[in-house]
Amino acid sequence: MNIIGHLINGELVNDRARTQPVYNPATGEATKEVALASKSTVEQAIAAAAAAFPAWRDTPVAKRARVMFRFKALLEEHADTICNMIGEEHGKILHDAAGELQRGIENVEYACGAPELLKGEYSKNAGPGIDSWSEFHPLGVVAGITPFNFPAMVPLWMYPLAIVCGNCFILKPSERDPGSTLFIAQLLKEAGLPDGVMNVVNGDKEAVDTLLSDPRIQAVSFVGSTPIARHIYATAAGNGKRCQALGGAKNHAIVMPDADLDNVVNSLLGAAFGSSGERCMALSVAVAVGDDIADKLIAQLQHAMQPLKVGVCTDTHNDFGPLITRQHQQNVENAIASAEQQGADIVIDGRHLRPAGYENGFFVGATLIDRVTPEMESYRQEIFGPVLQVVRVQTMEQAMQLINDHEYGNGTCIYTRDGEAARYFTDHIQVGMVGVNIPLPVPVASQSFGGWKNSLFGDLHAYGPDGVRFYTRRKTITQRWPSADLREGAQFSMPSQG
Ligand code: NAD
Repeated sequence: MNIIGHLINGELVNDRARTQPVYNPATGEATKEVALASKSTVEQAIAAAAAAFPAWRDTPVAKRARVMFRFKALLEEHADTICNMIGEEHGKILHDAAGELQRGIENVEYACGAPELLKGEYSKNAGPGIDSWSEFHPLGVVAGITPFNFPAMVPLWMYPLAIVCGNCFILKPSERDPGSTLFIAQLLKEAGLPDGVMNVVNGDKEAVDTLLSDPRIQAVSFVGSTPIARHIYATAAGNGKRCQALGGAKNHAIVMPDADLDNVVNSLLGAAFGSSGERCMALSVAVAVGDDIADKLIAQLQHAMQPLKVGVCTDTHNDFGPLITRQHQQNVENAIASAEQQGADIVIDGRHLRPAGYENGFFVGATLIDRVTPEMESYRQEIFGPVLQVVRVQTMEQAMQLINDHEYGNGTCIYTRDGEAARYFTDHIQVGMVGVNIPLPVPVASQSFGGWKNSLFGDLHAYGPDGVRFYTRRKTITQRWPSADLREGAQFSMPSQG
């Protein structure tokens, strides 16, 4: 069976001591294996990155950016191959994989602007004959640890920017669908990146623990579930590393009585069930303000959900595919069962869906649950499946209170025609990414991505301007060339322009 290995110092390396199966989630079959790196394999990657760093740091920024221009072209050239690999291991439909890849490419485009992003800040005549400026220096060897749900996009949030800023990178992808991630990283060599600047180690906790403890790693970017994010942040920060750790989510959409319900229903379908709900920005809770709008919303959703098609990634008529593992399928079905046991109405039940020809796949159909309350386990936890829950409240304040009280604060949205209500919402909601009539307010590459509360541990958001700050450290230089008329005597008071 094909074993997916590691990329170290520009070469594919296979350490076969420990491996784990990689499944095709549509068929339920193990089709490949992934090598799980030992501590010493990860240390080889770190050593390669550390050796490559001095020359890469000193490479002119325009030359570093040119690698990214070529990388973007290669990603576009190989888009079909990449999307097929994503579909085969993750299960998402090919049009969705193409959307993910395009979002990743936009982060590469942003990195192409490195000469502009890194030109620094300058203050002429900060004092008499004194000039002062800030430079943004790379950190050294930095690491990224990524989740299964966006095997192309989330790694591309990280390493193009880190590398173009002059760092060397070690990526530890999800062990559940590592094939496309490794394939993409190999394209960097073809784009002209020197060996050792980009390395990929596949693996599990052993690989992550090595990255978190090795003193040569200066910074760690993590994206995954909240319990692991909390652990990664505490460990990396405790070891003196810079860290940003993005966690899980529970994203609510408020549906106001004046909302355009046809638009709401169409956009909720994609935002709740797209990618089987396995998106950290999936809208999994609709908060209907008033019973009248709630009844209409449920009736329209019931109607609109009937034709949804679930199946294999290669049939692009399908709306979404399977879940990532048998275990996750079970977890999602258990969450639906717990809502039912705790008194919610299961309006459409996606459990036990078995598409013809794919009876052993990890499928759950689109599920709609009404009369969910904040005490229910299914409301508090992140389900990460194709499950839309409806909570009924009477006022916008109650709706906002629900969102503000929830432990997660990744994304949210309000559907309304009332500009004043929308402005109040965007001003006061305790969430990092906010939409107004936009169900998935994922920031574009020139902004930055991140949630609040238990959805992000760390000070800076991912990619965009915050990404540049995360992957560089500031050095501020203050300079004077004394001339005869500027020469000063000894000064014992704090220098100032007072
Ligand atoms: P996960 O937390 O299980 O795994 C993420 C990474 O951590 C993987 O590389 C995995 O190998 C590693 N890992 C897992 N257990 C570990 C341990 N005990 N010690 C060290 N490393 C460990 O997450 P997942 O299931 O792959 O992804 C889904 C989760 O990611 C969801 O909670 C989703 O909301 C979240 N997510 C968040 C964002 C965001 O931007 N906030 C984006 C995508 C996904």
